[in-house]
Amino acid sequence: MRYISTRGHADRKRFCEILLEGLAPDGGLYLPERYPAVDASTLQRLREAFDGGRAGGYASLAFEVLSLYIDDIPAADLRALCEKTYTEAVFGTPQIVPLKTLEAPSAQGPQAGFYLEALSNGPTLAFKDMAMQLLGNLFEYELARRGEELNILGATSGDTGSAAEYAMRGKKGVRVFMLSPHGRMSPFQQAQMFSLMDENIHNIAVEGVFDDCQDIVKAVSNDLEFKRAHKIGTVNSINWARLLAQVVYYFAGYFQATQQNTQQVSFTVPSGNFGNVCAGHVARQMGLPIRTLVVATNENDVLDEFFRTGVYRVRGSADTHETSSPSMDISKASNFERFVFDLLERDGERVKRLFGPALAAEGRFDLSADPAFAQAASRYGFRSGKSTHANRLDTIRSVYQRYRLMIDTHTADGVKVALEHREDATPMVVLETALPIKFAETIVEALGQQPDRPVQFIGIEDLPKRVKVMPASTPAVQAFIVDHCTTGA
Ligand SMILES: *Cc1c(COP(=O)(O)O)cnc(C)c1O
Repeated sequence: MRYISTRGHADRKRFCEILLEGLAPDGGLYLPERYPAVDASTLQRLREAFDGGRAGGYASLAFEVLSLYIDDIPAADLRALCEKTYTEAVFGTPQIVPLKTLEAPSAQGPQAGFYLEALSNGPTLAFKDMAMQLLGNLFEYELARRGEELNILGATSGDTGSAAEYAMRGKKGVRVFMLSPHGRMSPFQQAQMFSLMDENIHNIAVEGVFDDCQDIVKAVSNDLEFKRAHKIGTVNSINWARLLAQVVYYFAGYFQATQQNTQQVSFTVPSGNFGNVCAGHVARQMGLPIRTLVVATNENDVLDEFFRTGVYRVRGSADTHETSSPSMDISKASNFERFVFDLLERDGERVKRLFGPALAAEGRFDLSADPAFAQAASRYGFRSGKSTHANRLDTIRSVYQRYRLMIDTHTADGVKVALEHREDATPMVVLETALPIKFAETIVEALGQQPDRPVQFIGIEDLPKRVKVMPASTPAVQAFIVDHCTTGA
């Protein structure tokens, strides 16, 4: 399997070559040159590997799916990496991603089941653990093989940074430098990150907002000499390995919601950067019987607007709403280019024209008059919808009243939009992207009570914290990195 850029660059790379890279050299995103087809017998083999979610089933499934895309890691090693990653000890249950039934299929009527797929039982209680935990093990493996080191530099407003830190803690050859806006994350999120005492994890609280943190990361990455000298890398959501890891749980969700491989399932996905739902698109292209992929957004509705109108219009930071589902507060969807590449029959030149300097200058492109746009729904199965703060509160309340289940604000966006797209004959699976404890303030607003707290997080806010507060200055951050690269830790 070789990987190509969405912008038509001539390079063909192997999996381990792109594993530690961000963008392709032409600014595009990597995708496999083709999607391996899962025919009926392969699908049956994958169902048997998952084995109803018995212990080790998810790891076997992950190995089978990853093997279709990775041919430069020996099979025994890849299997060992999957088995080390997807354990009950890390993810809380043998199934790893159990389905929670909101409504069972009705015995007499035609109504198919309505489910949540629990992706948020990893170390940081958000679905990003599903991919990041694998990435941590893949990075450690590949760096050891090459005898190299990597310094991961990132900016976070919450979920990504903590998932990255919990995935990389204690990993040999990797250090993490994570910038967050000082005093702006929830007390729970701060406690999650700052209580880590691992020598290779460095929290930097920047006196500024999230955009300042991101600007510093960009400035450091653009300083090519510094980047090379200090082996700076990233783990952002455009990394193909992250996307690939996410493909696996669409299969696991499908197998749990069906008895036979002739049945179809629809998924609704709370979306921000289009990473999660793009993995669903890949699974569907491989041949997993997915009927509909519903993209759910919050007030930041860049994606909903595209799927309704054919216009992709990125927002300025002034037009980006701060919402109660903050991990979906995006101004542009960084993985969306991958889908557009497929939608335009993989015409890299055209993608380059749409996403290159023109998008930066005009802030939009319009496919409404292009015949390809109609295919987003007809051929690729996409639908969309959006939700507001009031919708989230209503949905959290009604799910609690009807099913005695607390859901987080992002999952609530998903449930709200899923209800608008449910069909009688097709099971609907909503991806649960975080647990309510991470966003307690809104749960209290909706339900008048605190969300349940998993035992391992009791008292986390009282633990000692390790964080360096710094002005919003690129040289200051660079000096800190240099300091901590040379002292060994
Ligand atoms: C990151 C995140 C999302 C959005 O996922 P994308 O891959 O960016 O679409 C949704 N919900 C939660 C809780 C997240 O952390």
